[in-house]
Amino acid sequence: MKQQKAFTVSLLIFSFLIIWFMPIPSLYAQRGAEEFSYYIPPVDRNPYPLVEQRQVKNIILMIGDGMSITTITAARIKVLGANGKMHIERMPVTGFINTYSANALITDSAAGATALSSGYKTNNGMIGMIPDSTKVYTILEGARDKSMSTGLIATSTITHATPAAFAAHVRLRSNQAAIAYDIIANRVNVILGGGEAFFLPQSHPDSKRRDDKNLIEEAVKAGYEFVQTKSEFDAAKSDFLLGLFHNDAMTTESPEPTLAEMTAKAIEILSRNVKGFFLMVEGSQIDWAEHDNDADETIKQMLHFDLAVKQAVDFAMENGETIVVITADHETGGMTINGGRLSGENLSIKWTTGSHTGVPVPVFAFGPHAERFTGWHDNTDVPKIFAELLEIADFPKK
Ligand SMILES: [Zn+2]
Repeated sequence: MKQQKAFTVSLLIFSFLIIWFMPIPSLYAQRGAEEFSYYIPPVDRNPYPLVEQRQVKNIILMIGDGMSITTITAARIKVLGANGKMHIERMPVTGFINTYSANALITDSAAGATALSSGYKTNNGMIGMIPDSTKVYTILEGARDKSMSTGLIATSTITHATPAAFAAHVRLRSNQAAIAYDIIANRVNVILGGGEAFFLPQSHPDSKRRDDKNLIEEAVKAGYEFVQTKSEFDAAKSDFLLGLFHNDAMTTESPEPTLAEMTAKAIEILSRNVKGFFLMVEGSQIDWAEHDNDADETIKQMLHFDLAVKQAVDFAMENGETIVVITADHETGGMTINGGRLSGENLSIKWTTGSHTGVPVPVFAFGPHAERFTGWHDNTDVPKIFAELLEIADFPKK
């Protein structure tokens, strides 16, 4: 009897140890290739061509928030193998960009995007203004003042730091209610992303505003078509389109429109303007996955961004007067590749931080005058080059 009891106890301890040390497949296994089956790589592996130097009519600026060379390379190796090729890797002109802000070696997205939108460095956290709170003119506003159409796309709330810095001027990036007001007041033609909460009056249960402004109602009165679902989005054709697909950030999952679909829709609407357009497209959640040091989610968001790149360059190739510039506001995670097979199996990613880092980011360009982006630049150079290409005089300006 005593022996039997001892046996039962040791069996229990043994089973407990097995369960304790057993790897949990759903937590530890890497995502399989089928998780990325939505991704279609380029058929043509050659670089996109250098094109004729014509006057630039349209600008598409694509910002992979937190996107680094490692982000791109890890996505390629994981999904296509080391010798694969992604759309972004076909860009014919490449360079580097320094990202530090006015008050910090490590920028945040607010100061990073303000540099990219206005040509001025500012303090971390500030949107569309320099450290002394003077508002600065953005390249989107410059395009609008030339009667060009404008667009902002993000998978975060559309009031998040990166899109905000192109159309809003606030001291604190967290003031997304004020940013929502500025974006509508700026009459940005196409506004697509998440963040409905910041457009609804405080009486609404989903609202994150502290006033009675209903910016959706005001936008509709001002001529915007408002859409929330994929089918409404597909059917939309007005020259002013406000699409808010989530109360907070988008899920980046079906049935929401994808970043590529939003990019295609914006181009379809904006390209009707004979005077041209400026469009900013952000892959917002690359950064968030990197903050979480989640390699597979980073790769997923990178691939969505790459499919949006394809939409932009396909249009630019056909159009001939469009420059596409792709860059990042900063690196996130100190992400590196330190092992794995050529096929992409057992890819080992290491991180040095859960925050941003101070390394330079890549810049890619396609279209007339793309070579202006070759070499090593400051982030403030990007909108200055845009202003020259669009012949916007007196830029940067306060
Ligand atoms: Zn970040």
